[in-house]
Amino acid sequence: MAVWFAEKVLLPQGWATNVRIEISSDGDITSVTPDSVPQGSRLGAIVVPGMPNLHSHSFQRAMAGLTEVALNPADSFWSWRDLMYRLVAKITPQQLETIAHYLYIEMLKAGYTSVAEFHYLHHDPQGNRYPHHEEMALCISNAAHQAGIGLTLLPVLYSHAGFGGQSPSAGQRRFIHDTEGYLSLHDRLSQHLSKVPMQRTGLCFHSLRAVTPEQITEVLSASSHPQPVHIHIAEQKKEVDDCLNWSGQRPVEWLYNNVQVDRNWCLVHATHLTDHETDIIAHSQAVAGLCLTTEANLGDGIFPGQRYVARGGIWGIGSDSHISVSVSEDLRWFEYGQRLHLQRRNRITSAENPFVGDVLYQGALQGGAQALGQRVGRIEVGYRADLLVLNSDDPFIATADDSMRLNRWLFACAANPIQHVMTGGRWVIRDGRHRDDQSLTQKFITVLRELTD
Ligand SMILES: [Zn+2]
Repeated sequence: MAVWFAEKVLLPQGWATNVRIEISSDGDITSVTPDSVPQGSRLGAIVVPGMPNLHSHSFQRAMAGLTEVALNPADSFWSWRDLMYRLVAKITPQQLETIAHYLYIEMLKAGYTSVAEFHYLHHDPQGNRYPHHEEMALCISNAAHQAGIGLTLLPVLYSHAGFGGQSPSAGQRRFIHDTEGYLSLHDRLSQHLSKVPMQRTGLCFHSLRAVTPEQITEVLSASSHPQPVHIHIAEQKKEVDDCLNWSGQRPVEWLYNNVQVDRNWCLVHATHLTDHETDIIAHSQAVAGLCLTTEANLGDGIFPGQRYVARGGIWGIGSDSHISVSVSEDLRWFEYGQRLHLQRRNRITSAENPFVGDVLYQGALQGGAQALGQRVGRIEVGYRADLLVLNSDDPFIATADDSMRLNRWLFACAANPIQHVMTGGRWVIRDGRHRDDQSLTQKFITVLRELTD
């Protein structure tokens, strides 16, 4: 057991002063005592819980920035996807592991201490299974373990190109499973990850267009215990229109009319919603998975955040395509999207708390942890010791009182003030550096050159 001390710590109920924290040898918090005298080792002056990242496609980090070129007057999500499929056709398991390892270290430095990986790149470039079916997924697990980030690995069921069971295209062949193959992959991964600290699996449907209703029923009824269930739900208007043509219902409507959606579910990109759909997601206590910088980058649309938060909806953030890897930028854009849309300021607040930064940070911690199905996101007994130490020499952090500290960080700091990062009770970032920085950077440069030649 280790004893730590910090002057200011963000607890679930708000900032506490002079806090003693005990952490067990397996990385869990075993006691939290505010108003203590200094003792044990010093964590730092200002400590907050690390943020869960609820949506990631690691390999897409390799193409970030390359699609900001106008090639077609109708450039959209769908033309972006063409470039993504060209990248998908090339990536080897070793390249995937290097990209994910590098990215997960970037995440730790940016404040994410755990990640849900929505993993659909399963097979070799011809669409055949690797000799070890789970080879690509294990690269993700290895990368997370080496980086020291918590992982909820979500192997994705992807069977069809569109609603009504349409045959997949050649560009999708590395993704495709039938239900039986998917369940066998999920089973093997679950067994493997149960032996790896800070890692677990969950279930995942790519989208309503990529699976049939029968497949959803089969997969859910095959799983014996509650676990996270993630799906891309309504990212694009075309997807909503296609769903209406297929079923007469919008995607969220269809899902809630046909499946028992509860707190285990995470609806990623619930972007295009009617007021009624917004309210039923909020009422169900499922997590709305918001990927603000990716949704802006792809021109998806704006989630009805003010209405959803006012109704007590649960939400969290994901860096998704990794066009940006920054907790503060994604949180800031949740608020800014609402301001731009509604032409008002300070939209993501609550009746109890008018400080936007507090509502953003605490909201994303709660929803992110729920989506990952892990005991993280709170500095509280029984939770994993995933902690960020902020740089108290940063002028904006140094001069902020309790009520303004998160606002100053999220809205004003130009330089990243995250100085040290701990996951599972162990330091993974010290003074902004990770032990693998030097060896990995050159490897990552080589992979970027190989993939973009
Ligand atoms: Zn996604």
